[in-house]
Amino acid sequence: ATHMAGEKEAALAAEPIDGPTIFDKIIRKEIPSQVVYEDQKVLAFRDISPQAPVHIIIIPKVKDGLSRLSKAEERHVEALGSLLYAAKVVAKQEGLDDGFRIVINDGPKGCQSVYHLDVHLLGGRQMNWPPG
Ligand code: AMP
Repeated sequence: ATHMAGEKEAALAAEPIDGPTIFDKIIRKEIPSQVVYEDQKVLAFRDISPQAPVHIIIIPKVKDGLSRLSKAEERHVEALGSLLYAAKVVAKQEGLDDGFRIVINDGPKGCQSVYHLDVHLLGGRQMNWPPG
């Protein structure tokens, strides 16, 4: 999120490109983050702009062209499965036993702001449907 701008404005200002993002620096521990889970394939850390009491970002450690879900190819199927399974593990670790929400934003219309595929895990409050 950019200073003085909302999440949507930050998303619409984001360049949907394939290059490195701030998440590469988080993976390399070049900028600090609150890591809550890590294994060989995925990293999970607290969102800097939480939209719920629990808001965690889960990303593949190797981007391999996955700037966004719409860029996924057959070779990414295992990575995609690992992200969702990690989301379940982290939800349990965070005590979200009564439920949670998983979100993947894709592209400008999906309000994506960082072009490194990321799964949002949201919980700790009642979610609403439909989402905004
Ligand atoms: P998306 O817009 O779906 O790509 O989600 C990116 C998320 O990353 C947003 O919810 C941001 O608040 C979050 N974010 C951006 N920079 C950081 C950071 N340095 N540490 C933690 N979360 C971040």
